[in-house]
Amino acid sequence: MTEKYETHEHDVLVIGAGGAGLRAAIEALGQGASVGVVCKSLLGKAHTVMAEGGIAASLGCVDPADNWKVHFRDTIAGGKFINNWRMAQIHAQESSDRVQELEQWGALFDRTPSGDILQRAFGGHTYKRLCHVGDRTGLEMIRTLQDRGVQLGIDVYMECTVTRLFTDRGRVAGAFAYWRESGRFAVFKAKSIVIATGGIGKAWRITSNSWEYTGDGMALAYQAGAELIDMEFVQFHPTGMIWPPGVQGILVTEAVRGEGGTLTNKEGERFMKRYDPEKMELSTRDVVARAIYTEVKEGRGSEHGGAYLDISHKPADYVIRKLPSMYHQFKDLADVDITKGPMEVGPTCHYMMGGVRVDAETAETTLPGLYAAGEAAAGLHGANRLGGNSLSDLLVFGRRAGLAAGASAKRAASVSIDADEAERAARELTAPFERETGEDPYAIHRDLEQKMQDLVGIFRVEADLKQALTEIASFHRRLAQVKVTGSRLFNPGWHLAIDLAAMLTVTEAVTRSALARQESRGAHSRIDFPKTDAEWGKKNNVIRRDGDAMKLSQSPVPEMPQDLKQLLEK
Ligand SMILES: Cc1cc2nc3c(=O)[nH]c(=O)nc-3n(C[C@H](O)[C@H](O)[C@H](O)COP(=O)(O)OP(=O)(O)OC[C@H]3O[C@@H](n4cnc5c(N)ncnc54)[C@H](O)[C@@H]3O)c2cc1C
Repeated sequence: MTEKYETHEHDVLVIGAGGAGLRAAIEALGQGASVGVVCKSLLGKAHTVMAEGGIAASLGCVDPADNWKVHFRDTIAGGKFINNWRMAQIHAQESSDRVQELEQWGALFDRTPSGDILQRAFGGHTYKRLCHVGDRTGLEMIRTLQDRGVQLGIDVYMECTVTRLFTDRGRVAGAFAYWRESGRFAVFKAKSIVIATGGIGKAWRITSNSWEYTGDGMALAYQAGAELIDMEFVQFHPTGMIWPPGVQGILVTEAVRGEGGTLTNKEGERFMKRYDPEKMELSTRDVVARAIYTEVKEGRGSEHGGAYLDISHKPADYVIRKLPSMYHQFKDLADVDITKGPMEVGPTCHYMMGGVRVDAETAETTLPGLYAAGEAAAGLHGANRLGGNSLSDLLVFGRRAGLAAGASAKRAASVSIDADEAERAARELTAPFERETGEDPYAIHRDLEQKMQDLVGIFRVEADLKQALTEIASFHRRLAQVKVTGSRLFNPGWHLAIDLAAMLTVTEAVTRSALARQESRGAHSRIDFPKTDAEWGKKNNVIRRDGDAMKLSQSPVPEMPQDLKQLLEK
């Protein structure tokens, strides 16, 4: 019934070609499934390639006392005890195997003098735990996974954006997409689908994220009927570039602090001693981001409104070897030599802890046949992610999602796609060309980013969150009248208009959840509820579609078994 559109059929369709998507594709192939991977940009250009500091795994190469139990404890403590305990356990137990497997597939990590994998310190990790390749770890990871996947025979559909999921008798059945270059439409038929589309950072003005991070996978899953959880937990990384204005938000890796970088205010004071005297610069990201924000607000900020981060006390050749990207980034973009003096840094929207609700064992969502992994999924990181725990998350749960998606596709009956639904998906996409008059999508995006920055940022308060909901409702109305000029041939304005629909769904979910959670926990800081509340510690916020309305409810945080509770007591 969908012959009108170019159609591709696979057992498993993976949406997203970052670490999570590629790892899922490799595993599904291993199940004998035919696998298609669709990605918005070119293969190899996902966010994963931007990862700098490293991948967390308790290999104990540098600190032999490390083990999965300590990694588990750190992850739960960093997530402020609201994580899905089983995901945290699986992640801590399996990440070492996944790193070693990556090495067998050809990844070359930095080494200790005795030839083991070198591991560095990062905030919130008790031991030196981050396996790395200088500050270009993501590049090595994606190169390795990509080589492996292509060698095994994944079909890749590049520069192709998925806009809708189809269901058939309560199971996922396929997806609607358009080719970014030609604007042509395509239909993908599949018995299992893995969402691995990453986060939503492009909805905030100051962000370390690229144009690809518009929350598509979370919106696709939500529209198809799956649940989202923990949407209030958005991570602001403490150290983004702040000067010059054109580079504001670009990430300054935590590896700078991991390698011994110090933070000072305009008075030269190492202010972290007032916020976390024990861990200082290696405190968790939520604490350091709030500390810098507070220093600036109280008049002790750096020249351009941030803090000074200095690594120049280390030998210049060491800095250039361990932090080559940072060295070039500051030299080229800010004319600052980080081997000679400090960088200026400030918080930047970085990572989404919330996302699609998944089963810990299989990564299946609440919609049969639909799986999610990586930054698009939720549960592992709770209220705050530790640095390095994302790359390991991609490998551990990408693998599990691919395994379960492949097995389930084999068992599932054939699915079909309703032609009317495909028609509706197409009409939705062409509507902005058909209006006589209407607003430019760039204006709506600019206003959305500013409002999210101002009203749903590091510190939140009821009046701002209510105001944000009113603003988002008005953006929905404006988007319904958006006009795009030109043709469907590579048209970035049209692409943005499509992305905006996802961004509005996801920012609404974030704001509703942030308003509901009347406490402060991890990355969610309420000025009007500054304390952590034990009752809220027992609840996850859940978002679900009910007709055209967004429904918010709470579900109990799964109870941790006694033996794991004892690990936390230690
Ligand atoms: C600058 C930077 C540095 C970082 N450093 C680290 C680090 O050192 N350690 C660490 O653990 N974490 C780090 N992170 C976080 C980590 O890189 C990401 O969380 C992780 O890479 C996300 O991987 P993913 O596979 O979930 O998504 P991604 O790698 O972002 O891949 C998403 C994929 O989905 C595709 N996609 C999106 N929407 C659609 C759509 N509608 N249709 C089709 N395809 C779509 C994209 O094209 C892309 O291929 C860093 C992040 C940034 C931004």
